[in-house]
Amino acid sequence: MAKFSAHILEEIQQRCNIVEIISGYIPLKKIGKNYKTVCPFHQEKTPSFMVNEEKQIFHCFGCGVGGNVFSFIMKIERLNFPEAVSFLAEKAGINIALNTKDEVSCSVVAALYKINELSSEYFFRNLAMSALAESARKYLSGRGLDVQGIKNFKIGFALNCWDGLLSFLRQHNLSDELILKSGLVISSSSKKLYDRFRNRIMFPISNRQGRIVGFGGRVFSKLSPHDNNIKQAKYINSPETEIYKKGNILYGFNFSKEFIQQLDYVVVVEGYLDFIVPFQAGFKNIVASLGTAFTLEQILVLKRYTKNVVIIFDADEAGQNATLRSLDVLLDAGMNVKIVRLNNEDDPDSYVRNYGREKFYQIVKQAKTLFDYKLEILFSKYSQDIPEEKALIAFEMLSTINKISDAVVRAAYITQLSEKLFVSEQVLLNELKKIKTSVIDNKNFLNTQIFNKHKTISSAEEMLVALLLNDLKMLEKVKKNLKYDDFKNPVIKEIMKYLFVDNVNAKNIAISLQRTDNSALNRFVCRILAEDFGIKDKGKSFTDCVRKIKKDSIQVKLDALQRQISMSSQDGANNLLREYSYLIKEQMSI
Ligand SMILES: [Zn+2]
Repeated sequence: MAKFSAHILEEIQQRCNIVEIISGYIPLKKIGKNYKTVCPFHQEKTPSFMVNEEKQIFHCFGCGVGGNVFSFIMKIERLNFPEAVSFLAEKAGINIALNTKDEVSCSVVAALYKINELSSEYFFRNLAMSALAESARKYLSGRGLDVQGIKNFKIGFALNCWDGLLSFLRQHNLSDELILKSGLVISSSSKKLYDRFRNRIMFPISNRQGRIVGFGGRVFSKLSPHDNNIKQAKYINSPETEIYKKGNILYGFNFSKEFIQQLDYVVVVEGYLDFIVPFQAGFKNIVASLGTAFTLEQILVLKRYTKNVVIIFDADEAGQNATLRSLDVLLDAGMNVKIVRLNNEDDPDSYVRNYGREKFYQIVKQAKTLFDYKLEILFSKYSQDIPEEKALIAFEMLSTINKISDAVVRAAYITQLSEKLFVSEQVLLNELKKIKTSVIDNKNFLNTQIFNKHKTISSAEEMLVALLLNDLKMLEKVKKNLKYDDFKNPVIKEIMKYLFVDNVNAKNIAISLQRTDNSALNRFVCRILAEDFGIKDKGKSFTDCVRKIKKDSIQVKLDALQRQISMSSQDGANNLLREYSYLIKEQMSI
């Protein structure tokens, strides 16, 4: 480990004001002497992350992290101490002379950043200079991307060969093991290494701080006739690595975050060029989801900058129930959601190229609320004249309304829905109440049951196992109310199967469970046994758990039916709908 003199560390600390450094990552609000914000290290809705400028420290009252500017950088950039020192020294313009390079211990994370950075330079140079990249350059200029645009987004090109990147990285003294870990190179079954990306336009994917963590590669030319048998995906991406978690990334966010904060709304598109082309044209409060459904992590990041989201869908994905459902997560997190649906041929990239930025701005301004949008889709799919279908429309809309946190907004939507469906508000309110009590989310459920705040228990299923392991007499009651198929967690399903089928007695249950050769099951049972969860009222908890598991189990069936309904013919759908409304009634009666 490198040793830094106290003098150097002090100088770095003096030049790197903790308030400035941290606000480079998250916006800080001054409250009295301190600055406050939402903690970047744990999920929370109200800010408990505090920065004290005078003492040059930070502390989170929610999760307990804290420290000085070095600890902050170590944590947020995932660096070790020497790396954090170099990182800040560079920012402060201080030259830290180290005896030899080896003194700074090079962690895997730092190596992965380096590999991605080097690869980006390599791909970029290919695109700029290689004669073999001519058609890729043509493709990009056809998309309106000039040299400056290509530079801004570090777009590159992977040559059509098996070891272009591989030999380039090897020249930089990187071990094969590390190169493999980056995911940019793959090992064949005969242990031969080869490039993952070949003959593709390369888009570097950066994290919020602008460091490259992975790549997306796009095919850009029609395949030549003799390639007909080879199926090529339009896009391939880096696999997840220690520095690249897909659910955490919003493409382009490192470029657009300030604009999003300034304009107080964000436009979410799907692909790389859907981001790049509008951004280049001056529409800058934009990010790309890269085609995955929204994750809570992404939403919480966005929420630090704005609560207002406009999502642009192209025609095929827009109507799918799964897509609509995924938007409820945004409402859950307290975001305001609007939707734009483009016509068949358009995506944001082509739209901006064909009609210009102003027109694009116009359609964003005319975005529909999630409520209007969802209702329109449901009306186009289901008929109001068939009672079951009408009930389904009401149920879907009420589930969405249920997620809206503002009571006034909720009431306004109930009124609107009542007018649209010709159903009295009172009836809708009654149905809404049923949904409210039937959908108890896991966290709330557990919080009402347990004293111990640092619990590792995470579901009703786990709690039921904990209760059972303490008191096997409850097993009879479980058997009466549930089937082992009602359990979702595969390990718990295994346990239940064992308990339901074999005759076990209370004394040896824990021991015999631990003796099975299923190691996941072993670990699980040990964890449950080792911990005191502080369950408040065992009898009540037991009944609540059984109810919750039953409801969840029906929900799984409902979701499956939903998918079937959306894919089946009209006649088939009607039968499924009957089953659907029957299950909903059953779920609500539990
Ligand atoms: Zn925290």
